[in-house]
Amino acid sequence: MDIRQDPFDLHRSPSSSQHRVSFAESVQPSLLAPRVRAVGPAPQQAINLRVRNEAPANSAAGVRVPVPSASTSQSSTTYMRVPAPVAPSRCKVVHVTGPSAERHVEPLAVHTVFPPRNARSAEFWYPDGNIIISTGGTYFKLLLSRLSRHCGYFERIANDRARTMVGGQRVVEVRDLELQDFYTFLRYLEIPMEHCVKEAPIEAALSLLRASRVLSCKAIGKLAEARLLGPWSSAAVPAVRDELAGRPYREALRMLELAQDISAPLARKQALYALLTDDQFWTDVASRRAQVAISDADLLLLYRARAAMQEKWRVHVLTPPKACANCGCISDEGARAVLWSGQMAKYTGTEVRDPVRSVEGVRTAVKGLATWCGACVDERTHASGEARDRWWRELDELLGIVVLEAHT
Ligand SMILES: [Zn+2]
Repeated sequence: MDIRQDPFDLHRSPSSSQHRVSFAESVQPSLLAPRVRAVGPAPQQAINLRVRNEAPANSAAGVRVPVPSASTSQSSTTYMRVPAPVAPSRCKVVHVTGPSAERHVEPLAVHTVFPPRNARSAEFWYPDGNIIISTGGTYFKLLLSRLSRHCGYFERIANDRARTMVGGQRVVEVRDLELQDFYTFLRYLEIPMEHCVKEAPIEAALSLLRASRVLSCKAIGKLAEARLLGPWSSAAVPAVRDELAGRPYREALRMLELAQDISAPLARKQALYALLTDDQFWTDVASRRAQVAISDADLLLLYRARAAMQEKWRVHVLTPPKACANCGCISDEGARAVLWSGQMAKYTGTEVRDPVRSVEGVRTAVKGLATWCGACVDERTHASGEARDRWWRELDELLGIVVLEAHT
């Protein structure tokens, strides 16, 4: 038999009778008496304990389950750990029947209490709770239905039949989560009347963001990000007189740093573009580089993006309207190009610092041009709108931005 099909053998070498103890032992060694007795047949679908194939089959600590990270970057995969199946050599396993991979672990010493009272959260220990969450050495007794409604992490646990019962209680250990972050998260989730994310102190908002990402809680994560980044987290194409227009570039630099710290690619893009378009920023870079807090790598990105954007701008502005069947003005292609470039040259004579917003001015100017018929004017104004949206998308590559779907 393939040892992976038998949960009791998950930690046993095929050639050895030695068993390694995992979660239950780490939870509370005192629970586990030396005598052991495995009762009942092995569950038919115990393979479910290996929750995802991506995870290695386990170390002594538990099964690690990849959790799609809501964070930006491309690389990081967060792992959650659900309790590993408990080896029978150190505890009494009872009542393993039916299709579920549920297993029950009972402390053999009658007087022991799980979890230890001094390790329980006084603030979040619901008498009618139905799941015990362990993180940072503290245990929380909570309502799984409420957690799973808001957090993808717990939704997966609720849907998964693999579970570990310790002393009749369902237990899940959450890794990669700071105790203080979880406390903050629970206060905002469980007591919303007293805690408003939109008004949260910055430190609390950072805690909420970290916890939300580990627990896949989109609702609180988005609110926390908005609290920290304000309009800088916007995915919208910059527009004339929008919220980000005209802000001092020092604010963009602060946002650039914060966006880096909390992995917020949309805010990073907005901050970099704000710098790209700021005259004072470039003046200061040229005259007192040391006092401008931006890395050489980011500055190089901006130089390249600046040159690329100017080329895109010139190509677009000097492109004459395409002659169409409805064109009622100039039919000769060469004459059209000469006339158009002559009329538009003044928009390409100097560097246009903010092409994305400036394109609106070109659209207005095109509408006022003499000589051209309505069809030609419409074609160019439509093309200007498309160019603006395309440039904004292309800035992702120019600025090295990777935006996951979860951030859009
Ligand atoms: Zn025409």
